[in-house]
Amino acid sequence: MTISEKLDIIKYNISDSAKKSGRRAEDILLLPVTKTRTPEEIMPALECGVRAIGENYVQELVAKYDVLAPYVDEFHMIGHLQSNKVKYIADKVSLIHSVDSLSLMKEIDKQAKKHEKVQDVLLEVNLTKEASKSGIYEENLERLFWESKNFSNLLVKGFMTMPPAGSSEDTLRRIFSRLYQLFCKFALEDASVEILSMGMSHDYQIAIEEGATLVRVGSAIFGPRDYTKISNRDTGI
Ligand SMILES: *Cc1c(COP(=O)(O)O)cnc(C)c1O
Repeated sequence: MTISEKLDIIKYNISDSAKKSGRRAEDILLLPVTKTRTPEEIMPALECGVRAIGENYVQELVAKYDVLAPYVDEFHMIGHLQSNKVKYIADKVSLIHSVDSLSLMKEIDKQAKKHEKVQDVLLEVNLTKEASKSGIYEENLERLFWESKNFSNLLVKGFMTMPPAGSSEDTLRRIFSRLYQLFCKFALEDASVEILSMGMSHDYQIAIEEGATLVRVGSAIFGPRDYTKISNRDTGI
């Protein structure tokens, strides 16, 4: 199947799941995840009208940026981000999905100031408290969210989560619906909150049914990943 055909199927599925949750396909953003993919592999998706892509690694995003920037409106940083690497992407990304500490917010705000922009971010929430995962615990969300208001060059637009790999459908629904509840609570208090990033190749339909507004889909578009192919072009990072 071609990338174009796979995108058509995914868009059909998104529309179907959106209807089930009382929304329209246009209310959901499909974010193709391009980690480990070369620009040549990504181009067919861009030719199908994809305008936003998600990358996980700072070095990889920077390595592909110049080649892809003419065709891409929005680069999203979806992977764990270290404070000392924010400076490499601050002028390149539209949305950072993985903010999980006050120190990271502080650094993003500082770098965004240098580029005279307001950086949109999502707070990553670790609802199951998996030790191996990044993300803030639910009980710290309220505090971090309101602390973000102290930064004039950073704006929290919503939340992101990544359930444990191999979770059952019941568990996925529990996790997604819990984050949707929190999302609704904050959205009522703050009009900036409008993005709920959850769902990947194997669970994006479930995530949309439970309220996701943005799904991050990699392998269902580009095929299985080969992690030896992470771009290691020397970018000096
Ligand atoms: C890799 C990745 C995805 C996409 O995963 P697929 O299973 O290939 O769809 C989505 N979100 C994050 C944070 C990722 O790291």
